[in-house]
Amino acid sequence: MSDEVPQCDVLLVGAGIMSATVATLLRELDPTLRVELFERLDRPAGESSHARHNAGTGHAALCELNYTPEKNGTIDITKAVQVMERFEISKQLWGWLVENGALPAPETFIRSVPHLSFVTGEDDARFLRRRHEALGAHPLFSGMEHSEDLAVLRGWMPLVIEGRRDDGPVAATRSHLGTDVDFGAITCGMLAHLERAHRVMPYFSHEVRDVARADDGGWEVEVRDLSLDLDRTFRAKFVFLGAGGGALDLLHESEIEEARGYGGFPVSGLWLVCKNPDVVARHAAKVYAKAKVGAPPMSVPHLDTRFIDGRRELLFGPFAGFSTKFLKEGSYLDLPTSLRLDNLLEMIGAGLHNLPLTRYLLDEVTQSFASRIEALRELVPDARAEDWELEVAGQRVQVIKHDDDDWGRLEFGTEIVSAKDNSLAALLGASPGASTSVSVALDLLLDCFPERMESAAWKSKLEEMIPGYARSLSNEPTLARALRETSHRRLRLDPP
Ligand SMILES: Cc1cc2nc3c(=O)[nH]c(=O)nc-3n(C[C@H](O)[C@H](O)[C@H](O)COP(=O)(O)OP(=O)(O)OC[C@H]3O[C@@H](n4cnc5c(N)ncnc54)[C@H](O)[C@@H]3O)c2cc1C
Repeated sequence: MSDEVPQCDVLLVGAGIMSATVATLLRELDPTLRVELFERLDRPAGESSHARHNAGTGHAALCELNYTPEKNGTIDITKAVQVMERFEISKQLWGWLVENGALPAPETFIRSVPHLSFVTGEDDARFLRRRHEALGAHPLFSGMEHSEDLAVLRGWMPLVIEGRRDDGPVAATRSHLGTDVDFGAITCGMLAHLERAHRVMPYFSHEVRDVARADDGGWEVEVRDLSLDLDRTFRAKFVFLGAGGGALDLLHESEIEEARGYGGFPVSGLWLVCKNPDVVARHAAKVYAKAKVGAPPMSVPHLDTRFIDGRRELLFGPFAGFSTKFLKEGSYLDLPTSLRLDNLLEMIGAGLHNLPLTRYLLDEVTQSFASRIEALRELVPDARAEDWELEVAGQRVQVIKHDDDDWGRLEFGTEIVSAKDNSLAALLGASPGASTSVSVALDLLLDCFPERMESAAWKSKLEEMIPGYARSLSNEPTLARALRETSHRRLRLDPP
């Protein structure tokens, strides 16, 4: 290659919340790093990170029942505690960025919105009671309320209770620690700061087409300038594939050994969005119910107050859908062309072992508008069809990976796949998603920059930005309380 090939230390693919967070952390930790970022769309946060493409729930396990499964008669809160600790880390970084003028006024991207879990029937009411006891005893979840009293529940969520027939027990928990988050606004804020303060200028309308090993052990990245129809090559010491649904294809292009056996399964989403302002004004919470039997965890029905561009909104969903695209603005060939010799067994294995999911998706896709309104009425009994309209949400690509017993299995979490020499990493999967973006970025830095993460300079900067990093907040309740108070003050959230 000629000397004219532009060189950088870090090259990031995608302008979603993940790349924005990784780039922000890296430049704060080492302002001398040469960072380049490429995005195929003409704008930032155009895919999953866009406010209208995800539910905007600051996932902290306050209301999501799937994080507290019942195992052998006891409620297992391990996953819930992990999700909560990770969200505290996100709030710490966002609060620090606001305090230091790197993110705009917090109301533009995060608001306090109570998180509620709502169940019906004797069995689920009993489950919720025990879940409340188990979580309530944990310092990070203190203050969570529980009620089975209809009058109290009507005060908490009138739309959910009014019009309900008296057909058995109902129960709910409520936490005032809950938030609604505009992850798109955070992404745009971080990228604007990178441009303003760090001179990192994202290349929009630039699609990364190929990632190949360079002679010096780094990477040669082929990029198509979509507005000029021009191909360019860049060289980078480290590449982050934060391309959301586009990451899997690029990971395969890199031909690293560690990519073998990985596949993806796309699940799209649809919302019902309320267009009647009087109805919107009567709900001020995120209410999560129980997923239907056979439904994947990301299809838990919920009724959400949202704040988008300063406007209060109300949405219900998500309804799962199926499309062979890996990105909302992707190609219908994404799924078929992701099949390769080295992941064929895994894809077949995952398909064979997830027939109930396939059936569930088929049912969901073929639903009419009227049957979606019926689903809404299970949570909002008096809902009127004319108040709601259907909107398409973002696209998720669930991870398929090798499994010794079943050939391949479908995963619902996120996974960092990195090259043995740590010079390239990709983020696959989508859950719990953007809420944990800061912890995911820190995990990635630990994997790929292990020595620098151990250096005194990086440690002290991390301590300044994210004081709870590398601490166990669960085991240090006094510290956890103090850090939460600081984050909530900085982010102008309700006092904890
Ligand atoms: C329906 C739904 C609901 C969700 N709800 C929540 C929620 O309530 N809370 C939560 O925390 N998370 C939620 N999530 C998950 C969350 O939205 C994602 O985890 C997060 O936005 C992923 O960010 P990202 O930066 O990895 O990907 P993205 O935001 O998708 O960004 C990837 C970017 O890479 C670009 N790109 C792709 N290929 C290329 C290429 N070859 N060259 C250049 N650019 C490329 C894309 O255009 C895109 O802009 C939800 C997701 C969905 C779909």
